[in-house]
Amino acid sequence: MTRGEKLYEGKAKILYATEDPQLVIQYFKDDATAFNAQKRGTIVDKGVVNNQISVHLFQWLEREGVPTHFVKQLSDREMLVKRLEIIPLEVTIRNIVAGGMAKMLGLEEGIVLKQPVFEWHYKSDALGDPLINDDHIFALGAATAQELAHIRQQSYRVNDVLKRYFAQRSIDLVDFKLEFGRCQDKILLGDEISPDTCRFWEQGTKRKLDKDRFRRDLGDIEAAYQEMLNRVIGAPAAR
Ligand code: UDP
Repeated sequence: MTRGEKLYEGKAKILYATEDPQLVIQYFKDDATAFNAQKRGTIVDKGVVNNQISVHLFQWLEREGVPTHFVKQLSDREMLVKRLEIIPLEVTIRNIVAGGMAKMLGLEEGIVLKQPVFEWHYKSDALGDPLINDDHIFALGAATAQELAHIRQQSYRVNDVLKRYFAQRSIDLVDFKLEFGRCQDKILLGDEISPDTCRFWEQGTKRKLDKDRFRRDLGDIEAAYQEMLNRVIGAPAAR
């Protein structure tokens, strides 16, 4: 598979065409942004780490019955994926209060939720990815009720699978963001799953091993991303 024309450049990734119109190359950059791109920086080798982590987690999710856009890893920074018509929604699932939810509801970070909290956000940089509900989505014409039901069900499944996966590696999956897209008559999980898109806290110490180290200037960012890669590819702890 060779890299064709650049189709799209986002904050952390670039999409390239291939000779197959159904397949695209997802290239992971080291660029980091936060607070709707008001804060910018570089995290050395983030692209390599996030590609590797995403490859591993997509393969794991496929094995657990969640269809994704992943086809295969091409290089350190590149994965081959199915071309999706991205649905302009971001799903957030939260298991522990942090970030936007703490701020919005005036809650302390770290409260363990009795049941996962599911959120839809409208994918729009211009609007700052606002929190929306199903009726807003229908008003926007972004997806059908049937599609929303399917995405919601798949997202909870991803949460169950990943929560268990990370718990076996002594990591709490605090929250994460997913994106889905249409591919022929199916809906597939797309984008990436990495410390850029999830909050990971080390069990016991609550050490943050994700992009909050960049957002909040906590230091040791590269080491945290590398640590997450080691946990992801490492064997589960014996239980
Ligand atoms: N997230 C993301 N992209 C976004 C917004 C959020 O990947 O544009 C992830 C974020 O890393 C966290 C989860 O979604 O794991 C929930 O983020 P939150 O809504 O708390 O927003 P934030 O605190 O990042 O502003």
